[in-house]
Amino acid sequence: MVEQLEHNQSHRRSVLRALLWLTLLFGVIFATLNIYRGLYLLASLEIVYAVFALSLLPIIPKTHHLAAWTVAYLVPFFSIMVFALLLPNTSFTVFAWIQIIPIVSYLLLGQRGGFWMSLTFVTAAVVAFTVRYMTDEHAMNLLVVANLAFSSLAVLLFSHIYERSRTRNEARLIELAGTDSLTGIANRMRLAKEFPRLRSQAERSGMALSLVVLDLDMFKRVNDEYGHDIGDLALQHAAQLLSSRLRGSDLACRLGGEEFALLLLGAEHQQAAMLADQLRQQLVATPLHLDDAILTISFSGGVATLGEDGADLSGLLKVADKRMYAAKHGGRNRIVAAPDQPVQPAGNP
Ligand code: GH3
Ligand code: MG
Ligand code: MG
Repeated sequence: MVEQLEHNQSHRRSVLRALLWLTLLFGVIFATLNIYRGLYLLASLEIVYAVFALSLLPIIPKTHHLAAWTVAYLVPFFSIMVFALLLPNTSFTVFAWIQIIPIVSYLLLGQRGGFWMSLTFVTAAVVAFTVRYMTDEHAMNLLVVANLAFSSLAVLLFSHIYERSRTRNEARLIELAGTDSLTGIANRMRLAKEFPRLRSQAERSGMALSLVVLDLDMFKRVNDEYGHDIGDLALQHAAQLLSSRLRGSDLACRLGGEEFALLLLGAEHQQAAMLADQLRQQLVATPLHLDDAILTISFSGGVATLGEDGADLSGLLKVADKRMYAAKHGGRNRIVAAPDQPVQPAGNP
């Protein structure tokens, strides 16, 4: 879902399509008017541009190069606007269209691209307008130029502020969508999103990538004996321990219920098994201190490694899950690294 949100950019595609339809409509209307007024060069530019807009309409909904197409469309679009401003026969009111430069740029290109696109063309338009103003006999007073320039800059500023806060909110939503609400660690969706990135990193650098699936032992009993709230507390306690003991390049996530996964970059199969076993021992050695009881939690885990046990996340999860169940059957509170390997006996730290 997050992946789709980031790569689909449906809001930008919709705005660009609306702009293409408008270009088509206004291109034809303005070209007709300009032919009537004898502005043949401008009219031909408008017709060529309307045809360009028409040809882009089927491309935009599907393209993987949305930003490149947007720039290819906006640069000539804004250039024609500025060019129209410079022509002696065009109306000064063309300047009104300059106001849409920042809005369209920020909506279509985001904060950085929008800033540079708007700055370039608003500046060009203000310069063009000033040149035109200075050479035109029917020059308006300086106040008009200042009004037009400042109103354009104000629109640029508002668009920038709006896009900055929209981008931050979107990033926050994406972060929340990948976070488990009870424990605050990553959830299954973030694991799915991060896996391809860590796999490429592992393949590029020749490092191993291992996955450990953990399931808390007899957790139903914790809920039954202490209540659901204490159960929640125990889940938070386990999640905190798992995430705090890992390196920055590793990922701890809650798969759901009382099941967790660790994605360990640079950990060979046996190293991953040893790390998981250390975590198991640490969790057992760090019980939860309740008002009138001490609650010790343990987990059983299974290890799978990229390449030898599978090439994708679902394959690795399946193998690690199977081994985790072997650990359960072997007596719980232990890690199983491989099927032919004897189950590591549970040991105290
Ligand atoms: P095993 O050692 O075989 O894994 O036994 P278990 O009792 O842990 O396994 P089982 O799947 O039977 O029970 C899992 C329990 O985890 C059931 C459910 O009440 C509890 N659980 C799942 N999600 C949550 C949660 O978000 N909060 C709390 N408090 N409990 C949860
Ligand atoms: Mg369990
Ligand atoms: Mg379970």
